[in-house]
Amino acid sequence: MKRMELSKRALKMEPSVTLAASAKAKTLKAEGKDVLSLTVGEPDFATPKNIQEAAKKAIEFGETSYYTPTAGIPALRQAVVDYMQDNYDLTYKVSETIITNGAKFALYLLFQVLLDEEDEVIIPTPYWVSYSEQVKLADGVPVFVEALEDNDYKVTVSQLEQVKSAKTKAILLNSPSNPTGMIYTKEELQAIGEWAVANQLVIVADDIYGHFIYGDAEFTPIATLSDAIRAQTIIINGVSKTYSMTGWRIGFAIGDQKIIRAMTDLASQASSNPTAVSQYAAIEALSGSQESVEVMRQAFEERMEKTYQWLSEVPGITVRKPQGAFYLFPNVRETMTICGYEDVNDFVEALLVEANVAVVTGKGFGAPDNIRLSYAADLATLEEAVKRIKHFVEKKQQK
Ligand SMILES: *Cc1c(COP(=O)(O)O)cnc(C)c1O
Repeated sequence: MKRMELSKRALKMEPSVTLAASAKAKTLKAEGKDVLSLTVGEPDFATPKNIQEAAKKAIEFGETSYYTPTAGIPALRQAVVDYMQDNYDLTYKVSETIITNGAKFALYLLFQVLLDEEDEVIIPTPYWVSYSEQVKLADGVPVFVEALEDNDYKVTVSQLEQVKSAKTKAILLNSPSNPTGMIYTKEELQAIGEWAVANQLVIVADDIYGHFIYGDAEFTPIATLSDAIRAQTIIINGVSKTYSMTGWRIGFAIGDQKIIRAMTDLASQASSNPTAVSQYAAIEALSGSQESVEVMRQAFEERMEKTYQWLSEVPGITVRKPQGAFYLFPNVRETMTICGYEDVNDFVEALLVEANVAVVTGKGFGAPDNIRLSYAADLATLEEAVKRIKHFVEKKQQK
């Protein structure tokens, strides 16, 4: 027996490219390099004061020395139920909710309890980096369907029909999308939802950016579109993005009671409850004042508008104007050609080393012509970063 060999499961797994890119930028910064990082998907605001206070109180009241129920403290699960009712007019029972260590772990649990070997999950590309790896870790098969730039990076029912098979178990939807910032309209979601119902597929709806919407775009949770769609939808959401709480690690899943119970049983063996203090903070986030959310949304919208303009002036770049989330996802194929790069990973590496700007390669999102820039950074940083990218490209162009 080769004791130190890694399992097949470990060997087929790839680390998160976004976390790796941000770690690399941080290392260079720590070495004293003047690196501007637009890598990471975390709001750059402090967690709102009222939420901080709720956490402090929980510590003072001693709410930390015991395990909470695995699925979360009842008051937080109730807060999730109320939140869905108040925001989206969706009625759920507490037993249809689970609180998890971030939305990422909710997705992980879901795929683990949903998929058997070779079950397929349809994932529109470009996609958030963890979906495909989590499906693979559950012995499932990610089936990619390319959302075309010309269709605003959204897939159509006829495309889905083409990749459907007898083994298709679920379809993943993330609107607003990380990395593209695009939002499906109500009509588009209705069509996809009805198709999923007709084919008895589980709809995994990652709604985590539902509060960061710009211009006249509208966010529709797919579960609101009919009872039949809702019955087959598992909603994934959390407090990380909406309340600038990425470090607190609180997410949740909502939907079919049997699936939620299985996720809870798995969590009880894997991690037990999410951090108690964070759960108390999350109650305040969901049920306290929502003022700070709108403040952050406005700040993101202003940064998006400006950065979108600045980026449009970089030679060769084409970029769709985001409708939500906090990323820009420019197509840099022509820019790379201008600069003499074939592979987007080489381009991203050169931007980091030569221009001191860290962005994320589109490859991890299944999009080898693109890079992802997060505008969860202040305006001065964004302006300077795009300036550096532009200079970098212009210099290469002249050579
Ligand atoms: C950030 C993110 C998540 C995970 O968020 P958590 O911090 O784990 O709650 C899930 N989906 C998408 C698309 C994200 O960008």
